[in-house]
Amino acid sequence: METPVRIVLHGARGRMGRAILNVVDQHPGLQVTARVDQGDDLARALQQGDVLVDFSVPEATERMLSLCVDRRVPVVLGTTGHEEQVRRRIREAAGVIPIVWASNFSTGVNVLFWLTERAAQILGPDYDAEIVEMHHRHKQDAPSGTARTLAEILVSVRHALWERDVRFGRQGLVGPRRPGEIGVHALRGGDVVGDHTVIFAAPGERVELTHRASSRETFAHGALRAARWVRDRPPGLYDMRDVLGLRAPA
Ligand code: NAD
Repeated sequence: METPVRIVLHGARGRMGRAILNVVDQHPGLQVTARVDQGDDLARALQQGDVLVDFSVPEATERMLSLCVDRRVPVVLGTTGHEEQVRRRIREAAGVIPIVWASNFSTGVNVLFWLTERAAQILGPDYDAEIVEMHHRHKQDAPSGTARTLAEILVSVRHALWERDVRFGRQGLVGPRRPGEIGVHALRGGDVVGDHTVIFAAPGERVELTHRASSRETFAHGALRAARWVRDRPPGLYDMRDVLGLRAPA
């Protein structure tokens, strides 16, 4: 029988941390052996685990990563909202340990990523692309990491430039839409777990691809699936499409 995967849960008292604790018993062979939150001793907790699962705050990522690199502990990284400097640090750390870094661990959203890539390839640049996301009133970062991933997919398919073509919101006398623009818009309110829509609009028609999450447990199941997957991987940067086998476009 496979040896159980021992998980160090970073951000254990948060909404996602609690969702993981609620569902981990449904994953045979996985156990949370250490719960870490602000003020706890992460270095010590890492002695009790094979994989670290992180849903905390972006400010905690650099320290968390250097401890995991020192101890060669693979990481499932769910926290979003990192500055470019921290994003660089994540890529560097993946040269030493395997990291599954995903803005969204739900299976459905990863299918949305795949569909967005295919739709953008098929429809081409004449269809105006806009991304709209909505989250609960407590969310700290905007736009969501998932909306950012959707924008990265569109930038890559269209050979666009992030700085020039991705446009976050519109206000004032902005004039007509520039060809090639990729609009990204963040709505906040209530207890919305996470909605994302990608719109492709042309004269005469539009295609809308929507995913709505109604429970954080969907992210928790995906993150635990990633924890099992990452334990025996070689160092490298992976995302949920690798875990689900959705990486290669058809
Ligand atoms: P939350 O605010 O409910 O929880 C964050 C937790 O981190 C809190 O318990 C807080 O005390 C803890 N924390 C703060 N500083 C810390 C530190 N230095 N060390 C350890 N823990 C610390 O937030 P949440 O809704 O659980 O979301 C957490 C993160 O996960 C956010 O960045 C969110 O955007 C992201 N998220 C990602 C996905 C995904 O699928 N990738 C899904 C949902 C949320």
